[in-house]
Amino acid sequence: MRGAGSLAMKYTLRCPECGAEYSSGFTLTCPKHDGILRSNYPEKRLILRSLPGLWRFYGWLPVEKTTDYHGKPVTYKSRGLARELGLRNLYVSFSGYCPELGAEIKTCTFKELEAPVVIQRALEGGVKNIVVSSAGNSARAFVHIGSQTGFPLVAVVPRSCVGDVWSPVVSPVVKTLVVEGDYSDADALAKKLWSMEGFTCEGGGRNVARRDALGTVLLDAVGEIGRLPEHYFQAVSSGTGGIGAWEAALRLLEDGRFGGELPRLHLSQNSPFAPMVEAWKAGRREILPQDFPPGEAVNLIYAKVLSKRSPLYGVKGGLYDALTATGGEMYAVTNAEARKAGELFEEVEGVDIVPAAAVAVASLFKAVEVGKVDAEDTVLLNVSGGGEKRVKEDVDIYPVDGIKVSKDISEKELREVLS
Ligand SMILES: [Zn+2]
Repeated sequence: MRGAGSLAMKYTLRCPECGAEYSSGFTLTCPKHDGILRSNYPEKRLILRSLPGLWRFYGWLPVEKTTDYHGKPVTYKSRGLARELGLRNLYVSFSGYCPELGAEIKTCTFKELEAPVVIQRALEGGVKNIVVSSAGNSARAFVHIGSQTGFPLVAVVPRSCVGDVWSPVVSPVVKTLVVEGDYSDADALAKKLWSMEGFTCEGGGRNVARRDALGTVLLDAVGEIGRLPEHYFQAVSSGTGGIGAWEAALRLLEDGRFGGELPRLHLSQNSPFAPMVEAWKAGRREILPQDFPPGEAVNLIYAKVLSKRSPLYGVKGGLYDALTATGGEMYAVTNAEARKAGELFEEVEGVDIVPAAAVAVASLFKAVEVGKVDAEDTVLLNVSGGGEKRVKEDVDIYPVDGIKVSKDISEKELREVLS
């Protein structure tokens, strides 16, 4: 670990409702308001530092020190997919494993970008452990980085998604709890842990470390393209990545060297589980019970990670505001459309992608079809994960079995299984 700067105060957090600023270590919320706190950095220009991986964007990450983690998103100009779509300026941001592209994310998901920044911020904030609830890909990322750094954490995942949790390293300080049900059951169990002494809520999308880490997708793209794209495509579950992209775009706008317009956010979900699409199409800031299909989300959709029931949508500073500010669009993509888009991507770009990324690819086809994107427009497609086939050939990875628990487990039993 090394210091990468000597700023007196690296960043503050600002409440979007009252404007109060906070500077303490691991703050997640304003005590008076529900709005999402945003980080405010004294550095107003994007400076690319000679540091490994995503730490090159150190100036806009909420940490004092960096680590030897060297993963980062990789931006490249598409040829194969661009030809299929008839686009001349299509850029792919790839967060996964593909040595030919220089992509070294061995858990094959952009959630791995969040984990080192969240863990470093937790360490600097004096936090002793964190609890993460996940539909699979966050758990995989946090189990891996937690194991690599030896930082104690508990990952809570629904049983139907535990097959997606594997890691190149597994450390005994990292525990995985496997709970019956879907993401909301994992979330409920994580909440129970947060209420117990000795366990810390990691904050999910409310943690600026997660959003600013995902914002590096846009920072890296701007470094490659030389300007802000006109359109940004991503699949969303909690909304963290979409909000992170918007916030990074606001910083780049303030920098002034990359254009004067925010990229338009084109965000997608996997129907029939598409509560944010339903609310957005109806012009509502609120998600209502009727926006959800009956049944457990994970049994209905191909991209099982896109199953969060309480996303950061209507809250001040959330996805509704991001979509409004950028003139954004939302798309519902069926399982068949996503599968087809994923297969096509692999065929023309040469790398397999995760189901959530396939949803984003399918949404780009829809946008082109209805004329939301023109042939000359500069488009950034966030391929949020891929390369699983290759990583399984190149790297020794271990499945994480986890500890099976009932969703009604008592606090006493929880302490016992985690001791
Ligand atoms: Zn406030």
